[in-house]
Amino acid sequence: LAKDNGRNQHQFFNAEMRDRVRNRTDMEHSMRHAIEHEEFELYYQPIYNCITHKVTAAEALIRWHHPEHGLISPAEFIPLAEDTGLIQPIGLWVFRQACAQLRAWKDQGIGSFAISVNISSSQRHLGFNAQVAADIINSTGADPTNIIFEITESMFLESSSEAISWLDQLKELGAQLAIDDFGTGYSSLSYLKQFPIDKLKIDRAFIRDLPDNAEDASLVNAITAMSKSLGLELIAEGVETTEQFKYLHQLGCQNIQGFLFSKPVPAEKLPNVIRQIEDNSYSKSPTDYVI
Ligand code: C2E
Ligand code: MG
Ligand code: MG
Ligand code: MG
Repeated sequence: LAKDNGRNQHQFFNAEMRDRVRNRTDMEHSMRHAIEHEEFELYYQPIYNCITHKVTAAEALIRWHHPEHGLISPAEFIPLAEDTGLIQPIGLWVFRQACAQLRAWKDQGIGSFAISVNISSSQRHLGFNAQVAADIINSTGADPTNIIFEITESMFLESSSEAISWLDQLKELGAQLAIDDFGTGYSSLSYLKQFPIDKLKIDRAFIRDLPDNAEDASLVNAITAMSKSLGLELIAEGVETTEQFKYLHQLGCQNIQGFLFSKPVPAEKLPNVIRQIEDNSYSKSPTDYVI
């Protein structure tokens, strides 16, 4: 009996593994297809500045319109794209698309905000660099000072001199650098003084249970104080409630991103969404803020 069970478990495990491999292979195959057939789209989520009461940036977030499975979230395919190296062509498409959009908005006279683009650590090893970025910036006519590169702490796991010069060269284009998902990585804080960082984005995990959760409140307090003394601009990610907004505003966190203001929207909807946010007079005072 034990033997039978073992065999069954073994067979079940194999079938599951086979499915997983098949799914990965299918997914990889359809990602290649998606690149060639332009099945990707960039959505944009506004980032609100509490001091100027303006939307000063929008984060570009990739969406995949799969012909059979519908809309697939990046959390489902970006990790596999990173594992297979497909993040390189996808990342190039994302950056080119974001730059072309910046240029298009500028031509339409709505060019007063920056676009924040996610760059995976693996893109550095696959050949994305300042020269490649400069070619795309030049060919699209985008203003490089309106580009923010979002990188994660994993970039600093080996704080190599190559990583430093890679980032220095991106900065020399005129772009800004933000640390995404700040506080969730395992790297030391010393990179903050070694690398040319401009902004920290506090991960949603620390915002979710504000203001009631005392530990999260202490951590966000500490991050705010630290960013202030280091001269780094702070962005809170995943702000969904007015209570979270008020709390963060009172702490002195300058920038807010989250569903409270807007979910990520297609490019053509962004100008209207921004107008609505900026026209909302309540957004100027956190004490009577409603949305
Ligand atoms: P991220 O860069 O940290 O982006 C923020 C994520 O939080 C987005 O998920 C956004 O929709 C979500 N979010 C924003 N505000 C709220 C909120 O108030 N509540 C909740 N529940 N969620 C909120 P999304 O678009 O699904 O992207 C997930 C992740 O996929 C991104 O996390 C980023 O790591 C990656 N990603 C997305 N687009 C790209 C891309 O073009 N290139 C690369 N390399 N990675 C990307
Ligand atoms: Mg991001
Ligand atoms: Mg993030
Ligand atoms: Mg992330």
